[in-house]
Amino acid sequence: MTEVLETRGLRKAFGALQATDDVSLTLRAGEIHAIIGPNGAGKSTLIGQICGTLPPDSGSVHLNGVDVTGLSTQARAGRGLARTFQISQLAMEDTALQNVLLGAVGASKRAWRFWRPALRHADLRDRAEAALARVGLDGHAATVTAELSHGQRRQLEVAVALTLNPQVFIMDEPMAGLGAEGSARLTPLLDSLRQEAPILLVEHDMDAVFALADRISVLVYGRIIASGTVEDIRRDPAVRDAYLGD
Ligand code: ADP
Ligand code: MG
Repeated sequence: MTEVLETRGLRKAFGALQATDDVSLTLRAGEIHAIIGPNGAGKSTLIGQICGTLPPDSGSVHLNGVDVTGLSTQARAGRGLARTFQISQLAMEDTALQNVLLGAVGASKRAWRFWRPALRHADLRDRAEAALARVGLDGHAATVTAELSHGQRRQLEVAVALTLNPQVFIMDEPMAGLGAEGSARLTPLLDSLRQEAPILLVEHDMDAVFALADRISVLVYGRIIASGTVEDIRRDPAVRDAYLGD
């Protein structure tokens, strides 16, 4: 399988605290790779290093075989690294459709030399409507975002990301704050999204992780202590001790 994203030996210290410590992982075409671990394990730090908001002390990040470690967040986004859910960037007073359009146009401004060729040929509104339909919000194009449920806003964030033709989705706790019903709606959407682009999924909701992940890596004190299939991880005694707690 093709490796779309790869990290090699990522490290980041905050003072005396080693937040990530030699993290090497891959994300392959078509898969969902979940990163699990207790609070403070370094999951968000790792995501920041991958997306370019936190420069690593050492190590490198590769996107489709290209070393992007020296590139800005915007340049990585322009190469198809789509980060969702960390902080909602939706404009609450605008409609769902306007948010998708703004996302597409905003991306074109932020990284316009990457997007200009696509924009010249594409009808933005068609793409925005297709993205809304893709996430199951076609009936809500004209709904003001503030009136959408929490779960529907997560679906909308996916639609915004989709207009950027993502190569990779990076998701930090998409299920956080959703009730059982919201998680149950988002799970099949994420399940099908891996067809468009593989997903690096940081998630605490273990039901969702076990339902979705092709591979799981367990991060504890900044280090990956185990990596494997759902069954491998469920059976791993070190993981049970350190994290699953039984
Ligand atoms: P997780 O997302 O797994 O909960 P984080 O990556 O947010 O963990 O944090 C890893 C560790 O690094 C924690 O101990 C956290 O307190 C610390 N940390 C994260 N960001 C900073 C920062 N900007 N300055 C100092 N310490 C930080
Ligand atoms: Mg975190």
